[in-house]
Amino acid sequence: MNALTVGVARETAAGERRVALTPDGVTRLQAAGLAVMAESGAGEGAWFPDAAYTAVGAQIATTEMLYADCDVLVGVHPPGRTELLRAGQVVIGLLQPLTSPRLARDLAAAKVTAISLDGLPRTLTRAQAMDALTSQANVAGYKAALVAADAYGSYFPMLMTAAGTVRPATVLVVGAGVAGLQAIGTARRLGAIVTGYDVRDAARADVLSTGASFLDLRTEVSGTGVGGYARELTETEQQAQQDAMTAAVARFDVVITTAQVPGRRPPVLIPAAALAAMQPGSVVLDLAASPLGGNVEGTVPDSTVVTGNGVTLIGAGNLPAAVPRAASTAYSRNIAALLAHLIHQGQLRLDTADEITAGVLITSDGEVVHPGVLAQTAAAEGDRR
Ligand code: NAD
Repeated sequence: MNALTVGVARETAAGERRVALTPDGVTRLQAAGLAVMAESGAGEGAWFPDAAYTAVGAQIATTEMLYADCDVLVGVHPPGRTELLRAGQVVIGLLQPLTSPRLARDLAAAKVTAISLDGLPRTLTRAQAMDALTSQANVAGYKAALVAADAYGSYFPMLMTAAGTVRPATVLVVGAGVAGLQAIGTARRLGAIVTGYDVRDAARADVLSTGASFLDLRTEVSGTGVGGYARELTETEQQAQQDAMTAAVARFDVVITTAQVPGRRPPVLIPAAALAAMQPGSVVLDLAASPLGGNVEGTVPDSTVVTGNGVTLIGAGNLPAAVPRAASTAYSRNIAALLAHLIHQGQLRLDTADEITAGVLITSDGEVVHPGVLAQTAAAEGDRR
């Protein structure tokens, strides 16, 4: 049987600079018995030129050749040219099927097998090498601290100079999951005095283990949900949290928010009243900013505004794309680990008795098969009736 050919797509989303498979990833896939072709320019944004792919034995292809000849198409985002996909092809990426169920339906209708890394059961130890949500959240948290430090008009560390001593910045990181803990670590390495906060009980120990302090909001809200994630708070709990946060944030120079609840709009933690209570020159960076809203009232992704009282409010955009080499390298390892798991004797084996496969497989044999996506679609149809 011929070796399966994996195609590396050039990302088409605006501002995206990552590539799903680096030359190192090509070598890993070849070792697993796969052939690789890369769309011309696929790695350019992350400083992996076409020559680096040919040097490791990948074929460089035009867009049309790539879609026509590869068996498995890998990307960071959903493919840019879905109309070129063929029945029987496999697409792998961060497809966000819970928020884009239509794409899942379209791929199923085209008899394309869709595999999405965001469905991975993340708590399984053997899935950790494939965990793209974690690898990209790490990059985002790191960059969030750097962007906030850059926008802040003073130093993060304490500096003692002949002209006097500058006090260190006080930084609050709200949401202490993967991105939040990395933002805490980065801000601490820059020398800031860092405090973390999260609604999950277990996060306190995580924050303290980094050497940061934990913000005690005394709202008596415990937001531990299922699978290590937070649950959505009730309206009363949210109000209590916002009131307590409004009183707390005024004493911080920099606030970075990263709070998410899977499948829900990000919770609003910093209302306008909290921003109004902050000092001029403070910086608030909302990593959860999304078209649906973010953790800070009024944030817009990829947009920076200065409030009337002089607070710089940054709605983060696609921060992993701003660290493209590191983000691509990590993502590429996630893809290579997932493919190594799914390949048996040179061919893909999609056995849903395996927890990892069942988590990532979204469409198969012309149907949407992922239970979470099916449930979401059924709920949306119920709402329309
Ligand atoms: P996430 O991106 O879904 O959310 C980020 C953080 O926001 C979470 O810590 C969450 O508790 C917090 N949050 C949500 N609502 C909040 C609110 N109202 N107020 C304050 N904070 C709020 O989370 P994530 O970064 O993907 O990680 C979620 C959990 O899963 C963490 O415990 C993480 O360590 C864990 N995790 C475990 C593994 C593993 O075991 N291999 C892998 C990845 C993540």
